[in-house]
Amino acid sequence: MLASRPLIEFNSVVKNTSKVDVLFGYCYPSTYRAGMTGLALQIIYSTLNAREDTSCERYFRHQTQSPVHSIESNRPLRDNHIIGFTLTYEEDILNLIQMLDLGKIPVVVEDRTDNDPIIVVGGPVVSSNPEPYVDFVDVFAIGEGDIIVHNIVEIVKSSGSRDEAIAAMAEIDGLYVPITKPSSVSHITIADLDALEYPIAQVIPDVDEESKLEPVFGKSFLLEVTRGCGHSCKFCLVGHICQPRRTRSLERLQELVEQGIERTPVNKVSLIGSSLGDLDSLEDLVCWIVTRGVEVSAPSLRADSISKNLLECLVKGGQRTLTIAPETGSLALRKSMGKGITDSDIEMAVKTAESVGYTSLKLYFIIGLPGETQADIDSTVRMIQNIAKNSAMRITASVNPFIPKARTRWEMEPQLTLDALRGTLRYIEDELKSIPRVTLETLDLRSARIQAALSIGGRSLGEVIRTAAVYGGYGGWRRAEKETGIPFLSLASDPDRFRSGIPWAYLKR
Ligand code: SF4
Repeated sequence: MLASRPLIEFNSVVKNTSKVDVLFGYCYPSTYRAGMTGLALQIIYSTLNAREDTSCERYFRHQTQSPVHSIESNRPLRDNHIIGFTLTYEEDILNLIQMLDLGKIPVVVEDRTDNDPIIVVGGPVVSSNPEPYVDFVDVFAIGEGDIIVHNIVEIVKSSGSRDEAIAAMAEIDGLYVPITKPSSVSHITIADLDALEYPIAQVIPDVDEESKLEPVFGKSFLLEVTRGCGHSCKFCLVGHICQPRRTRSLERLQELVEQGIERTPVNKVSLIGSSLGDLDSLEDLVCWIVTRGVEVSAPSLRADSISKNLLECLVKGGQRTLTIAPETGSLALRKSMGKGITDSDIEMAVKTAESVGYTSLKLYFIIGLPGETQADIDSTVRMIQNIAKNSAMRITASVNPFIPKARTRWEMEPQLTLDALRGTLRYIEDELKSIPRVTLETLDLRSARIQAALSIGGRSLGEVIRTAAVYGGYGGWRRAEKETGIPFLSLASDPDRFRSGIPWAYLKR
């Protein structure tokens, strides 16, 4: 979809390119809305443009005038020295390849020459398992990219050729250059969040609230409160690859809010962090933001980190939907996955939310978990029914299939077959359909199968990806499976899938 009128944004940066040394194209291989919702974009954009020697401009696959001309100055994608992608969802690899192809950049590493940009990819997908994508990527950034992105720029600035730059990147911790075949690659973690530079003047689109370009959290200042998580649920990627849990101090967070609201034209703060409750001073922070006359939202909270005062302040700050993730209605299964919240934590959270003025509830569940029985599925149904019976809030139950992720403790566990997943979903739908206030939503099962295969697959999947990118969409993956003869869509259920070893075994902490 093309934007109908030229996009106006606050805080975007256009530099005179004759006065900089390095041109960096930051690409988000999906919609403008999705890319502008993420903090990664704001961090990379801000930190690179703070350098006098670098111009960073943005590209999105969808919802812009062109996926291969920058938002800021219409700069052609291939004019950049470095093209950096964040890959947040596995399936977006097709968009990434299409952007390269449309930008006249050879899609396959070995076809690139000294005149082509260097393609760097980071983000949770490749930090977990880069192997399916090695055919297309010159350099992977494994782990947190805040500082390493400066190493990349410095290397490009001082190198005489593209090959020399890529070879130099292979020597840097946290950068993985597949053509050099390293025996191990380390994962970069930033130790001290307080000491880290932070994007204060964030880019905000000047669009209506109803616009499809409006970021998911609305027009808000994104405030990263925590990184990683103090828990380590066996299925959860964040709980494994973003260790250890780190938090910013209350003083630093208050300073960032004050500066951020001054430099970013919004009246809302969205708290970012996979486990916000890990911040001891969360309640103080939220209530302090409200006293500044600014709205605040906490996208998701652990049920055992909720207090009445915290929720009261969030309601005063404009939040009306509480999002929590019981994962399963079965206490035993919840315990076995390491999610230490109890049924009474969940009941109390719901009760408290309703008593202070929340009007809707979003609950996340996973089906097809290792060891799951019919009794566990019944417990999930019962939990949703009981919550609906005891509360007047609107309830959205998001029920999604288990996707085994590389580098988690459940990385070797299989995904249920498509038929089994369909059966479970149909059963849950039937059991809940008579409850009018409950809406059931789920990830497309085809998408769950694709994500699982790419999560645990190896480099042989490059052929499947290349073929799927030619056709695009779900149909593309099906045709790719047929044409390559690689049983891709059922890979994560195949008992023999690791017969040649674990593809990501070289990634080290
Ligand atoms: S508490 Fe949430 S973020 Fe932390 S490991 Fe568990 S699921 Fe992941």
